[in-house]
Amino acid sequence: MFRSHHCGELRLTDINKTVTLAGWASVIRDKGGLLWIDLRDRYGITQLVFDENYTAKELFDIARSVGREFVLQATGTVIERVAKTNKIPTGDIEIKVTELKILNAAKTPPFTIQDDTDGGDDLRMKYRYLDLRRSVVQKNLFFRSNVALETRKYLAGQGFIEVETPNLIKSTPEGARDFVVPSRMNKGQFYALPQSPQTFKQILMVAGFDKYFQIVKCFRDEDLRADRQPEFTQIDCEMAFVHQEDILNTFEGLTKHLFREALGIELSEFPRMQYDDAMRLYGSDKPDLRFGMAFCDLSRVAKGHGFPVFDSAEAVLAICAEGCADYSRKQTDELTEWVKRPQIGAKGLVYVKYEADGSVKSSVDKFYTPDHLRDWLHHANAKPGDLLLVLSGEEEKTRKQLGELRLEMGNRLGLRRPDEFKPLWVLDFPLLEWDEDEGRFFAMHHPFTSPKPGDIAKMDSDDHQVLKSIRADAYDLVLNGVEIGGGSIRIHDRDLQSRNFRLLGFTPEEAENQFGFLLGAFEYGAPPHGGIAFGFDRLNAVMNGANSIRDFIAFPKNNQGRDMMIDAPGDIKDKQMDELGIRLHLPA
Ligand code: ASP
Repeated sequence: MFRSHHCGELRLTDINKTVTLAGWASVIRDKGGLLWIDLRDRYGITQLVFDENYTAKELFDIARSVGREFVLQATGTVIERVAKTNKIPTGDIEIKVTELKILNAAKTPPFTIQDDTDGGDDLRMKYRYLDLRRSVVQKNLFFRSNVALETRKYLAGQGFIEVETPNLIKSTPEGARDFVVPSRMNKGQFYALPQSPQTFKQILMVAGFDKYFQIVKCFRDEDLRADRQPEFTQIDCEMAFVHQEDILNTFEGLTKHLFREALGIELSEFPRMQYDDAMRLYGSDKPDLRFGMAFCDLSRVAKGHGFPVFDSAEAVLAICAEGCADYSRKQTDELTEWVKRPQIGAKGLVYVKYEADGSVKSSVDKFYTPDHLRDWLHHANAKPGDLLLVLSGEEEKTRKQLGELRLEMGNRLGLRRPDEFKPLWVLDFPLLEWDEDEGRFFAMHHPFTSPKPGDIAKMDSDDHQVLKSIRADAYDLVLNGVEIGGGSIRIHDRDLQSRNFRLLGFTPEEAENQFGFLLGAFEYGAPPHGGIAFGFDRLNAVMNGANSIRDFIAFPKNNQGRDMMIDAPGDIKDKQMDELGIRLHLPA
């Protein structure tokens, strides 16, 4: 028996037992005649004690030679601790050691293996095996493992089958950039790693599997933003013979199940919002509903009074920051600078203070009488003590900018509490999205998404406005301002799918070449179907009130897409290149 107990297990009730533990030396305190070692394993920490008064000299010498992160096996008696601590569950006891074996020595780690480590990001990633010894990081991975398990339990209970789909597939130009893999056996040709199993899961519906899911790696070669990883995990699902409503209910059920089992939180029924309303009221398709501050449109009351900035603006929009009328000049200046940063891009910020005594003060007093300003405040349902923040300009841009400002105010006012959870279904996304740079329409969700039946006729129009107004049976699940899932009812009719490809600028040959297999499958009895995919890493992060998905991935990549531990990507040998029939053309 290597060990009789683990390091998180022993209590006062175990006093006088002879036990054997194994683990890592985490903290060593040497007080001369007295020496303590905190022995750590996955389960916790137990204190080992060595005392010159009763520890044999040879044993004491071994203990004294132990360094941080040495791997030890210790046998001894459980005794009551004099200086008890309630910081750890084993804080009432310690082990009076009678035998100590150094199983392996360790170099001094480059950072402390503690919750509040002194290691920077890159160092921690390079020595990820040491970082992963920290209990805060381990806790996240245990959480993740449990959420995966509960996902499988719930979906299996609903009759879903988990099917693995291939990782070596075909590159398609739609969506994000593909990672490609050269084929040795088919020189000059390439596989692509899947951005998602989208077409395969639809094929599984054609094949009659009815309910599919997979916890699956997806790969997208995008420029990495803070919360992106080139490979990430989805809970990918598809169902046949369903309406949108069936999918929303099933996956609202999954989300509630996960919150209940992993966090002990009962979520109530998820509210729903139209995409258009989300954009109009919050300037975002993923509004954070932990706080209000919905937009108020002041265009009608604020324009036409001789203030050129507003008079020439397409939209004048405001949010009301409750209780912020006492903001100092410094604070309003700071907000103005904040909206003018290039990431936000506003030209300026107008404010109106509704003072506690009912008087009104603003940054545009020159152009508006107090009565006018009161009219704005009235429009925005402001109360004395509130601060109105106003942005103006081109409508779509202004909504996005004000959406960012709203989130910033939410942060400043502490309204985005990490332990509060506000889910939301956003429904009826547009089918198409115009891309200025490429001068063509792209699918807002993906090219397999079905337009709403009532909007199909609009697909024949040449008018961009009409095309933009086509709504899709597409939905997102939003949690605390983060998109954690998205899906749609799919097209299951060959002709409609061809029409959609045409709208997206595919020639019939391109469509056939890239998606012929799917179009073909649609000719052999494709059932109506739809599905959804959850961002699994992100779901775990949001459930923990964490901002970074990296903390929930065992071996994440850095912002340059590098794995710092194994140092990938790396070079390959000329011989490998020859076999693959590829040659490098690097810029000089
Ligand atoms: N495959 C889609 C995605 O990765 C999700 C879906 O439509 O089911 O976003």
